[in-house]
Amino acid sequence: NEIKTIPEEFKTSTKKPRFLLLAFTDINGSLKGMEIPIERYEEAVENGISFDGSSIPGFEGIEDSDLIFKADPDTYAELPWEGIGRVYGYIYKGDKPYHADPRGILKKALEELEKKGIKAYIGPEPEFYIFKKNGTWELHIPDNGGYFDLVALDKARDIRREIALYMPYLGLKPEVLHHEVGKAQHEIDFRYDEALRTADNIISFKHVVKAVAELHSYYATFMPKPLYGLPGNGMHLHISLWKDGENIFVGENGLSDTALYFIGGILKHAKALTALTNPTVNSYKRLVPGYEAPVYISWGYRNRSALIRVPAFKGSGARIEYRCPDPSANPYLAFAGILMAGLDGIKRKIEPDSYVETNVYEMDEVERERLGIETLPGSLGEALEELKKDKTVREALGRACRNFIDYKEREWEEYLEYLSLRDIPIDTKKVTEWELERYFYV
Ligand code: GLU
Ligand code: MG
Ligand code: MG
Repeated sequence: NEIKTIPEEFKTSTKKPRFLLLAFTDINGSLKGMEIPIERYEEAVENGISFDGSSIPGFEGIEDSDLIFKADPDTYAELPWEGIGRVYGYIYKGDKPYHADPRGILKKALEELEKKGIKAYIGPEPEFYIFKKNGTWELHIPDNGGYFDLVALDKARDIRREIALYMPYLGLKPEVLHHEVGKAQHEIDFRYDEALRTADNIISFKHVVKAVAELHSYYATFMPKPLYGLPGNGMHLHISLWKDGENIFVGENGLSDTALYFIGGILKHAKALTALTNPTVNSYKRLVPGYEAPVYISWGYRNRSALIRVPAFKGSGARIEYRCPDPSANPYLAFAGILMAGLDGIKRKIEPDSYVETNVYEMDEVERERLGIETLPGSLGEALEELKKDKTVREALGRACRNFIDYKEREWEEYLEYLSLRDIPIDTKKVTEWELERYFYV
């Protein structure tokens, strides 16, 4: 059986890639992979390539060490800056899907939606900083620019454009490139796609951004809050559900009931979801008032202080914008959680409360309480406690939820230990060296 997506010349030519990167993510969403000579591509699709998974974060059990990577030829791309092929895939243990494979977990969640004939489309807005590094953690900010600034205030513009020129080779369609609010902060939006494809695209995007920055002796970071006092890196997600080629978020006068129930489901599970959408210690340094990042669990039309915003739309463009996710999330796990929470809302017809059209940050506590507006977890530790209590979100990860919680609890404890050894208060909003060390390259 022919693998249609391998162009004939890749099989033999020496001008074409000689190596193929078999790429997947660990539980953190960090890109991992092994390279094989391109001649083994068919074998990688048909039988898979075995590897030792025992040192991959989140795959840890010794009994899980013999794993198999099966390439998904739909994802084949060439990395133009590297001259090699790259393919994503699914991980197996023996002949069964491996329970902690993030891509497999999202596939399973999408099958739940497909049972109802539903397809999910997601478009991300990933933000990142481009720094020079002097010494270990002294970050040099190459420009003083802000939102939409240009020329001398936009020193990394050539890097941003080069990234966008490479993106189509990886199947991404760049749509808008710009300097963001933070000094040396940038955003490149790319076209929305079906959820699994978008999760792959986010991984590919982070790969190309980091690689191109490095070619210029710069460093790109997606950590949610690299610097205290500057805006964080968000990754807003625009989500819509489709059935028989129609956007089912479109109602007669705006949003459909399905969309409202979907919002209701997400709001209901929002606290547990943050463990997946904001899964690092550093994530919670971003979710503070004053930087266009959400803190309160609320929704509204156009309201940028809300956790869920419904952008103005025409025709089939109905969608919701979920504003708390950040680019340190593993997109496969985050999407699985979000979609299962939304589906729970649809199944149980959960009406979304905590509707606001005014700035939530300007309300006092009494006013927020009157409107039933709650607060997102304030730390990774709190978010993990919420996840443990939420059956729907836990079930979205299946047995891998245990792997996730164990891994993340250790991360949280290591941080607490770091703080206590240095007498740093536990509620510090400052970004610590521990975080830079741990997350700068996420
Ligand atoms: N950087 C902001 C955040 O942390 C988002 C800014 C924007 O609206 O694009 O979410
Ligand atoms: Mg932005
Ligand atoms: Mg946005």
